[in-house]
Amino acid sequence: MDEQQLAELRATLAAELTRLEQSMNTTAEGLKPVELDQTAVGRLSRMDELQNQAMTRNLHERQEMKLAGLTQALNRIEDGTYGTCTECGGEIPLARLEVFPETATCMECTA
Ligand SMILES: [Zn+2]
Repeated sequence: MDEQQLAELRATLAAELTRLEQSMNTTAEGLKPVELDQTAVGRLSRMDELQNQAMTRNLHERQEMKLAGLTQALNRIEDGTYGTCTECGGEIPLARLEVFPETATCMECTA
């Protein structure tokens, strides 16, 4: 992997991080307590709303994991260890990094 390829992957990671942070703000909105206004006749029943919130919480957990992955990948670029499998120390093929830029392991170690 040359400097340019690394710079491109770094830009991809940074862009994904920005996008993720924006959607996490939206998710945080969805995690606010359910309104208990009895008179409100919304399109969603309270049950729907609670179910919705459970899904939002799930999504939030996945987003947290993705956030950690992106942040760690950017840190590895800083360290100069990016593109090296954290399990076996082997080189992660560029083709794989282009599809999963936040990946920390090679195909063999992920499987
Ligand atoms: Zn490996």
